[in-house]
Amino acid sequence: MNFELGDVLIRREDIGQRVREMASDISSAYGDKELVLVGVLKGAVVFLSDLIRSLPVSMVIELDFLGVSSYGSSTESSGVVRIIKDLDINISGRNVIVVEDIVDTGLTLSYLMNILRERDPETLDVCALLDKPSRRKTDIDIAFRGFEIPDEFVVGYGLDYSGKWRNLPEIYTVTEKS
Ligand code: 5GP
Repeated sequence: MNFELGDVLIRREDIGQRVREMASDISSAYGDKELVLVGVLKGAVVFLSDLIRSLPVSMVIELDFLGVSSYGSSTESSGVVRIIKDLDINISGRNVIVVEDIVDTGLTLSYLMNILRERDPETLDVCALLDKPSRRKTDIDIAFRGFEIPDEFVVGYGLDYSGKWRNLPEIYTVTEKS
């Protein structure tokens, strides 16, 4: 199937505003505790980079990344998750927040959370910019959530379709090319 850009779903200003609010929520929740932010590659990179710059400069934050297999070139989740890049650091006893672009079926995050929980972090939370609750196949507790969106495939602000459109500053829906 071939897709083209549809409408803007979330405007740049609204993303910026919400990211600042989420950073403020994180800072209130953790106070002066040291944090490890784990970005899930590649979609969460744009969100993560804005998020850390909205956190107070006094917060001590370590960054790490997890690479997982995703949709490939299709827009449907296979439910199969594979770790392509593991963490570099030991998270035992640390306060960890997993930063995701979008929670759809929840299968990816559920798998990742199980793996990370086994490594004995002091705390483990999820921060996701977008949430499509209508598609959920497993329970996920999202401590910090940006926007709830309808069941539409979206791109931009780090999210891609076949490697395209990650660089868009706004979040768009895609439509099927006729
Ligand atoms: P889940 O395992 O929750 O079904 O899917 C999570 C991953 O699927 C996300 O991290 C993202 O990579 C991809 N994904 C889910 N929905 C969308 C979407 O609407 N647009 C894009 N670009 N990726 C999505």
